[in-house]
Amino acid sequence: MKFDYMIIGAGFAGSILAERMASQLDKKVLVVDKRNYIAGNAYDYYDENGILVHKYGPHIFHTNSKKVFDYLSQFTKWNTYTHKVKAVIEGKNIPIPFNLNSIYELFPKKYAEKLENILIEKYGFGLKIPILKMKETDNSELKLLADYIYKNVFYGYTVKQWGLKPEELDFNVSSRVPVYISRDNRYFQDTYQCLPKNGYTEMFSNMLNHKNIKILLNTDYRDAIEYIKFDKLIYTGTLDYFFDNMFGELPYRSLEFNFETFDSPKFQELGQINFPNNYDYTRITEFKHLTQQNHPKTTIAYEYPMPFISGKNEAYYPIPRPENNDLFAKYKNEADKLKNAFFIGRLADYKYYNMDQIAGVALQLFENKIAK
Ligand SMILES: Cc1cc2nc3c(=O)[nH]c(=O)nc-3n(C[C@H](O)[C@H](O)[C@H](O)COP(=O)(O)OP(=O)(O)OC[C@H]3O[C@@H](n4cnc5c(N)ncnc54)[C@H](O)[C@@H]3O)c2cc1C
Repeated sequence: MKFDYMIIGAGFAGSILAERMASQLDKKVLVVDKRNYIAGNAYDYYDENGILVHKYGPHIFHTNSKKVFDYLSQFTKWNTYTHKVKAVIEGKNIPIPFNLNSIYELFPKKYAEKLENILIEKYGFGLKIPILKMKETDNSELKLLADYIYKNVFYGYTVKQWGLKPEELDFNVSSRVPVYISRDNRYFQDTYQCLPKNGYTEMFSNMLNHKNIKILLNTDYRDAIEYIKFDKLIYTGTLDYFFDNMFGELPYRSLEFNFETFDSPKFQELGQINFPNNYDYTRITEFKHLTQQNHPKTTIAYEYPMPFISGKNEAYYPIPRPENNDLFAKYKNEADKLKNAFFIGRLADYKYYNMDQIAGVALQLFENKIAK
């Protein structure tokens, strides 16, 4: 059998494109994944205790895009969920993103009031300031505060997460979680914040449940390419692997998750607690807060960042810094030369995408290039 499209990767990018081509263009599609399940890094499953967990770290869907939300809503109902995070700073659990409430948790009231006034006067209420920007201030009181936040909230976490200091990464990494001049403790401010009611894997299963879509699991791209016949390729894996490392390996950061189940219904006050300064893990996730599952036990995951080693662990995050971006550009240049192949996704674009962002990019690729 010959397929119109072979798609490598059953994550958001690959699955959305498969669904669109099968349902809108009546194309015959084969989705191939090297893992033995669909859903990419959003994969969730019931552990041996019957608790729904996220294998590749906590995934909270949040978006301002009604288009993306409506599209995915065809395949799932949702549980609304407001993500809140605290970080352990000087023995106290304080709200993250760092905001005015965090200041009141850490400093004496009078001093906190003074800092609040300075911040509002300088930036305005409701503004979000990247920490590296705030550190540039010439106001001595603000500079002290900025240095305190940098040291206690950002520095240790970034060094653990990336193996690099905040200044050694592209500016947009540390500005992803800016200081928020507000009393809003929510981690995200997006219009839609939710998780699929019965989990991500079921949402993907509904998406791929179409007579024109076949799924081949446990199969690497290199093996599939040997014997599958197809007209066009969509590839969502890494480009260095695709091109046999012809320019060298692209650096990624990896993670290890250590899951633990407790014989009590609750472990911690929120779904996510960060540890910028203590321990080797960056955060502890308690999944039941996210999934809202009722269960007498609870499962948590400790998250340990580490270097990516090809063949040993998973490539989770591209490491955004100029020399890596330059190396990626060489691979992208090769990819652009190939007719009948599209490269898309967090690995193939060497770019951190939230789920809604990659969903939007996949829908756009379909509308602007594939369906035209
Ligand atoms: C720890 C962590 C937490 C996150 N939390 C959030 C969050 O809370 N909210 C949010 O919006 N986003 C979050 N994200 C981002 C989210 O995971 C991505 O947006 C999403 O997974 C991107 O989808 P994708 O299809 O590009 O890639 P993926 O989901 O990674 O899918 C790629 C697929 O391709 C397969 N593949 C790769 N190479 C090959 C090959 N050679 N042969 C066969 N198959 C191959 C892989 O096995 C994988 O299944 C998080 C990411 C991480 C790492």
